[in-house]
Amino acid sequence: MPDPDDNQSPDPDDGSTHSPTPSPSPTPSPSPTRRGSSPATAADRRIDANVRSALAAVTAALPAGEDRPGQVEMAIAVGRAITDKRPLIVQAGTGTGKSLAYLVPAIVSGVKVVIATATKALQDQLAGKDLPFLATHLERPFEFAVLKGRSNYVCMQRVHEATTSDAQLTLDGTSDRGVADEVRTLAEWAARTESGDRAELDVEPSFRAWAAVSVGPRECPGANNCPRGGECFAEHARAAAAEADVVVVNTHLYGLSLEAGGAFLPEHDVVVIDEAHQFEDVVSATFGLDLTGGRFTNLSRIAQAIIDDPTTTADLEAAGARLADVLADQVGRRLRGTMDPDLADAIVLGRNRVDALLGTLRGVPDDGPGDVGARKQRALKAASTLADDLDYVCDVPVSHVAWVEGSPDNPVLRVAPIDVAEVLRTALWDGATAILTSATISPTLGDRLGLTPGAFDQIDVGSPFDYEANALLYCAADLPDPRTPDFDEHLHRELEALIIAAGGRTLALFTSYRAMNAAADALRHRLPWPVLTQNDLPKPALIARFAAEESTSLFATMGFWQGIDVPGPSLSLVTIDRLPFPRPDEPLLQARRERARADAFRVVDLPRATTMLAQGAGRLIRTSTDRGVVAVLDARMATSAAYRWDMVSALPPMPRTRELGVAEAFLREIRDRPDHATIHDSTDSTDSTTDSPAAPAPTAGSAEAEADADF
Ligand code: SF4
Repeated sequence: MPDPDDNQSPDPDDGSTHSPTPSPSPTPSPSPTRRGSSPATAADRRIDANVRSALAAVTAALPAGEDRPGQVEMAIAVGRAITDKRPLIVQAGTGTGKSLAYLVPAIVSGVKVVIATATKALQDQLAGKDLPFLATHLERPFEFAVLKGRSNYVCMQRVHEATTSDAQLTLDGTSDRGVADEVRTLAEWAARTESGDRAELDVEPSFRAWAAVSVGPRECPGANNCPRGGECFAEHARAAAAEADVVVVNTHLYGLSLEAGGAFLPEHDVVVIDEAHQFEDVVSATFGLDLTGGRFTNLSRIAQAIIDDPTTTADLEAAGARLADVLADQVGRRLRGTMDPDLADAIVLGRNRVDALLGTLRGVPDDGPGDVGARKQRALKAASTLADDLDYVCDVPVSHVAWVEGSPDNPVLRVAPIDVAEVLRTALWDGATAILTSATISPTLGDRLGLTPGAFDQIDVGSPFDYEANALLYCAADLPDPRTPDFDEHLHRELEALIIAAGGRTLALFTSYRAMNAAADALRHRLPWPVLTQNDLPKPALIARFAAEESTSLFATMGFWQGIDVPGPSLSLVTIDRLPFPRPDEPLLQARRERARADAFRVVDLPRATTMLAQGAGRLIRTSTDRGVVAVLDARMATSAAYRWDMVSALPPMPRTRELGVAEAFLREIRDRPDHATIHDSTDSTDSTTDSPAAPAPTAGSAEAEADADF
């Protein structure tokens, strides 16, 4: 789905989506909380003026030509950060138009910038809309390029091998007629495409067909060792990125490049990390490794094409199967202390079998017939990477944590650094100037990522949407604790009342599949409208149907708490079954808690819960005319002295209530006004029974104030 925070993006086909009408009485942006900044100098004022006028020229060219104070504030802060070479963290609420707020100053400054995005939708929006629009409307000319991971591009060497040898189709597992036909179609496309980018394909290829014509970084020997390095699409994309002023990548590729000492990306002055609330997890994943039995099978297939030694390849596959068997028994476990003897044996066996294969591969002549030389290089690369990873898991350093995840059918041994801060201090903060932005930024993000206190700025530019008038935060304070046995029954009753009041139109977010399925089973028979769950359809089709059918409700788990954008009347109610604290047994977080000791809750659990809660609640108001209720059905939100204000403060500034009747009345009023027009007078029923987050300490003296005193 499109990134909602960038709904200011130019779209000639749909001005309404990308140029929301400003709310007549927008909530004023909160004062920026800036840390460590110094007073503006004459040079600062010059930069500010340049950025301000460039942004004004650009936004004037948008269909509605609106001016957003938060966007201007962010753009100026980004401009100064670039000039001062000082990292900046920006919380930019929904509707800020943050992509223009970082692109304009970056381009105006003339530096080389990499934009790292967490979602493909945002990447597509930047490359397909925002950057072409800026190229037309900014006075300063610039070039931009999109760079993806290697496996996104068709590999000409593999296409050559697949189309010149029927035997290879069998060896690659593509002997299936349908897959072989797909591979031939892909080869024809490879001959005429200019980018080689899989995203260009009209029809999504099957996993097996694409695997037969692509390679990952673990396998590609590099252009210098490849006979088709000169016609390689991945290499062409890298060359274009080297020439461009603005390079758009995905955050995962950025993390991989940091891990490889910058090997995958051109040198750059500035990096913008969008959706920065996910950056910690991306860095953990990309600075770690994963080991599966499938890597042995894959290596065996590559090798079989060039060596006639069935014993060696069969032994290799057997070692992979043995490793998978052992890992299957350890799924969900953290590996610490002395390694389990069976696992240690499986790893040693695997390492020996990879060694045996490496010996055989080295004996293959480089100038063998056909593609033997290229295949040999690829096999050597894949084998040596696997050997390195096996060595690493035998001796995991204390700075890292190892665990087994996945399912017994497909177990994965993962290793990741415990402390992302240490990693980034070396890999990032001494290099490019970083701008980190998201609609939800935890106050501790800079510390967790290793930024030096006082050496970076952090601001919050708010949101232009009128949450005070259009939204209500309801906490079901009378529900039992979600950990009690009869909670489900109470939860289902509460959900039923709220969904009826909303007329369907509900995105019900759950913290577990069990809770989602139980609620869907209970409510399908009680509600007069359809209830979809995430099990019913693929995600894009599910969201499209939910958006198209106003009275339908969608019940979903964690994958739907972020990135879902359903503006308009189909979504008036977001419910959250319980506060999204991470599981106590997640190995990586467990290791972080051990490091943080007494601070574990505040350093590890609370920031994740508040960020996820804010992401979930953020699904509600997507445009200036959206209205609705966020219902948190976990009473701890209202009663926990330890963290209730951390939770409330993480959310947009909505009025709050703990009265079900108030929430129902607000929903009914929205339901019965199908135009969903924004109401800005004070006549709706919530005013007399809700408190404003602008005044977090409720006034004592009335029953209602006392009732709300904990929320
Ligand atoms: S360098 Fe060769 S093997 Fe690597 S992706 Fe390019 S064409 Fe394929």
